[in-house]
Amino acid sequence: MTDPAASPIANAPALILGGGIAGLASALALARQGIASHILEKRANYSEEGAGIQIGPNGTRILQQLGVAERLQPLVGTPEALSVRDGRSGAQLALLPLGDWIAQRHGAPYWTAHRRDLHSALLAAAEAEPRITITLGDTAASITSDDAGVSVATTAGRSVSGFALIAADGIGSTVRASLFNGAQPTPYGKSAARSVIPIAAAPEQLRRQIVTIWLLPDAHVVHYPVSGGQELAMVVVLDDAHLSDSWNEPVPAGEIEQALSASAPALRKLITQAHDWKRWTLRTLPVPTQLAIDNVALAGDAAHPMLPFFAQGGVMALEDAAVLAATLGSKQGTTGGLLADYASKRRARVARVVAASQRNGRIYHLDGAVALARNAVLRVTPPQHLMRQYDWLYGWRAT
Ligand SMILES: Cc1cc2nc3c(=O)[nH]c(=O)nc-3n(C[C@H](O)[C@H](O)[C@H](O)COP(=O)(O)OP(=O)(O)OC[C@H]3O[C@@H](n4cnc5c(N)ncnc54)[C@H](O)[C@@H]3O)c2cc1C
Repeated sequence: MTDPAASPIANAPALILGGGIAGLASALALARQGIASHILEKRANYSEEGAGIQIGPNGTRILQQLGVAERLQPLVGTPEALSVRDGRSGAQLALLPLGDWIAQRHGAPYWTAHRRDLHSALLAAAEAEPRITITLGDTAASITSDDAGVSVATTAGRSVSGFALIAADGIGSTVRASLFNGAQPTPYGKSAARSVIPIAAAPEQLRRQIVTIWLLPDAHVVHYPVSGGQELAMVVVLDDAHLSDSWNEPVPAGEIEQALSASAPALRKLITQAHDWKRWTLRTLPVPTQLAIDNVALAGDAAHPMLPFFAQGGVMALEDAAVLAATLGSKQGTTGGLLADYASKRRARVARVVAASQRNGRIYHLDGAVALARNAVLRVTPPQHLMRQYDWLYGWRAT
């Protein structure tokens, strides 16, 4: 047993690159282990904060542990069910239980939130935590990792050092590109467009506290309540050869309506209520064989960008944070050894979720006879049986 007080972890902060969901959650989870951190976030402010994000019980449980759930709860939606619909006929194919059923089954609720609200709740908690330092508008210009820890020279001319570097710098991670295998996510041939409208603007039958998925050939639409149930967040996933590096590219007027012109009347009516569609290009990346090298580890989208077909992108970032902090919190052994332990605990889990998300995407976008077969299976399978298949996902715990 090494003396925890003599560990470098007790005597220097963790450097965290990126103050998004993974970065802030990691800092908060480390603080609960008594470990200080310094976040470098390249954006000077957080003005553009996305739209909807779903947080299953495996994520809300972590928010409870981080002391963030109470702050966030008034701002979320708590959907009672997940309705799967045929996007052309509008027929409901399945109504799967969420609400009390999933909360009781997994000991934590299923929430739907505006990404802005999740991020703001994490940020407020981090700003109130004396062990966390946040520097906005700065990033790493160069990174040196050796036995003593990690040193970062920043683009603004700072020099900061820590016992480790957690790269939580999102899907376009420069750390993954420069220090790991250099692989970059490749376009998936689709984009996701999102918008948020007042729930009162939705057609009456869609003003419900549920998650709804409309399945169409080569497309799907998801919507759910956010902002305490007062707004509806919508995401439309479409074939799209156009490429963009932005999370916030405006969609030309009429493009979404045109793409969904053969869909069910209620869906078409809903879509026309939104006037500020923003899209991002979907990209995939095989989970890197290494999620940690020496004193540097990847977390969140930097480690494993997710296609949005399983609603787990934000939650996997929260899980990474919880495992990272629990592992480093032991302060036993070298930093490199502890980060390797973190990586081995996470790799199989995130690879399974990435694969499940890709599989969902294929199932969602089926056409013709196979789509009819899918619909028949959804209609006849008992809803609770379908949901129990996800116990491995929602029942997960960090330790
Ligand atoms: C502006 C924005 C809007 C988004 N909108 C949605 C949405 O509507 N729906 C959805 O499902 N997902 C959205 N996402 C992605 C979603 O947040 C992530 O997929 C998921 O939560 C995992 O979080 P993450 O912290 O790993 O990545 P992110 O949430 O992407 O956070 C990465 C953070 O790192 C910062 N960063 C990037 N490069 C550097 C660098 N070199 N140095 C320092 N900091 C850096 C970024 O500015 C960002 O704050 C959005 C992300 C962003 C940044």
